Amino acid sequence: MNTPIPHADAVLRNYINGEFISSAMLFDNINPVDGSIINQVAEADKTMVDDAVMSAKRALKGEWGQLSVDQRCALLHKVADGIEARFDEFVAAEMADTGKSFFQATTIDIPRGAANFRIFADLAKSQSTECFHTHTQDGSKALNYAVNKPLGVVAVIAPWNLPLLLMTWKLAPAMAAGNVIVAKPSEETPATATLLAEVMHDAGIPKGVFNLLHGFGHQSAGEFLTQHEHVDAVTFTGESRTGSAIMKASADGVKALSFELGGKNAGIIFEDCDFDEAVAGTARSVFTNGGQVCLCTERLYVHRSIFDKFVAALKDKAEQLKIGWPLDQSTDMGPVISHKHRDKVVAYYESAISDGATVVTGGGVPKFGDARDNGAFVEPTIFTGLSEQSKIVKEEVFGPVCHITPFDDEDEAINMANDSRYGLAATVWTTNLQRAHRVAEQMDVGICWVNAWYLRDLRTPFGGMKLSGVGREGGVHSLNFYSEPTNICIKL
Ligand code: NAD
Repeated sequence: MNTPIPHADAVLRNYINGEFISSAMLFDNINPVDGSIINQVAEADKTMVDDAVMSAKRALKGEWGQLSVDQRCALLHKVADGIEARFDEFVAAEMADTGKSFFQATTIDIPRGAANFRIFADLAKSQSTECFHTHTQDGSKALNYAVNKPLGVVAVIAPWNLPLLLMTWKLAPAMAAGNVIVAKPSEETPATATLLAEVMHDAGIPKGVFNLLHGFGHQSAGEFLTQHEHVDAVTFTGESRTGSAIMKASADGVKALSFELGGKNAGIIFEDCDFDEAVAGTARSVFTNGGQVCLCTERLYVHRSIFDKFVAALKDKAEQLKIGWPLDQSTDMGPVISHKHRDKVVAYYESAISDGATVVTGGGVPKFGDARDNGAFVEPTIFTGLSEQSKIVKEEVFGPVCHITPFDDEDEAINMANDSRYGLAATVWTTNLQRAHRVAEQMDVGICWVNAWYLRDLRTPFGGMKLSGVGREGGVHSLNFYSEPTNICIKL
């Protein structure tokens, strides 16, 4: 792929009220592969945040609010067309910002970015409401039905791990339900969001309906947005700690909140699993995107009778991963997102080692002898031998690492898997049908896969328990969150 990086020598601008706007405050967008500066980004100040929110508020009352659901959804299909028409540019931008592999960007991130618009546009057209025929004690009758309205101005705040995919996962259903948007991508990954603003513009989305702000969280665009009195709802994906800060900032306005937060996901591998499938699936679940998917597995529980064999097989898989240049199509794993994040992941590796872990493989930073040594690479890593109370077994690392613990019986495995402050995802590997159902149901998580990982149907409820989130999105769950039903009661 030889597509140049879009906007490589330009400033990535904010998109407010249908116009691209720069700022006096610029920050560098860094390529994590070699530490080079890709381009600069215009940080939105408080006035720009206010302009974006107020332009969205005006747009709600304008042409957008008058469109039929069919007209609105036809525009969203045009946005999907626009992403597909500029597919290579989106891929180049996502790879430059994140260092993710060509394979992942072309098969997951960008296709899903377009698909989110198509799926939610089509679903919105068949959104139904309730209707009850009511009989009261005095013999009168009434017809009760609900009409759905948009929530209003929705702030969409996205993380860096799947930048386009996760931003569109929220803004597509929000727009399909008729809302107006002020979106903020992560400061680490501003590029595909900027391309998306261009696509929205070219698709004819009316001005003010979609606004994009660049910047950081605390005391920057993220916080100014969530505190803004005319933001009606905040839909957020990111760290649990950030979710807590946003909840506090949103409290005064009692804003509607939907949070998809961190995880410390467990995988249970039973002795009756299909061994090769369990190893291959687990390797994917630990190392995909350098472990930087909220659904990645960081804790493994393996039946003692197959423990040594499983650890050896997973070690082989980890050591076969090709780490390196994202543009090399044989690359399996790129760097983590930034030097800061690399240092955090390495600090977790060091804490595991000082807690007495056995390093099965990895545990450090790879050396290449070229420009990649200035990047943010870490080794795929497997630890064993730690107590369940160790820091690396308790806290989310968000890197290519897992710890493996043996278990002797089913209840012990379930208890260890559920002994976490997080509750996002789990995987269970077994060929025993009854066990599959019995165990899956007992997992305290939003999604439990059996003999699979990251097999998604976008119509299903998605979200987390405990520190992993508030609410569910996906299919009608998204449309319900982004809609405000008014019950109308007509006396007959
Ligand atoms: P983060 O919380 O640091 O940042 C996410 C976004 O929030 C960024 O745009 C950031 O600028 C903004 N932000 C930060 N502080 C803010 C504040 N005080 N007010 C408003 N906005 C603020 O998360 P990250 O490091 O970008 O992403 C990694 C985290 O996201 C991991 O914990 C991962 O598990 C989680 N995640 C969860 C899911 C899910 O579906 N549950 C999906 C992907 C990632």
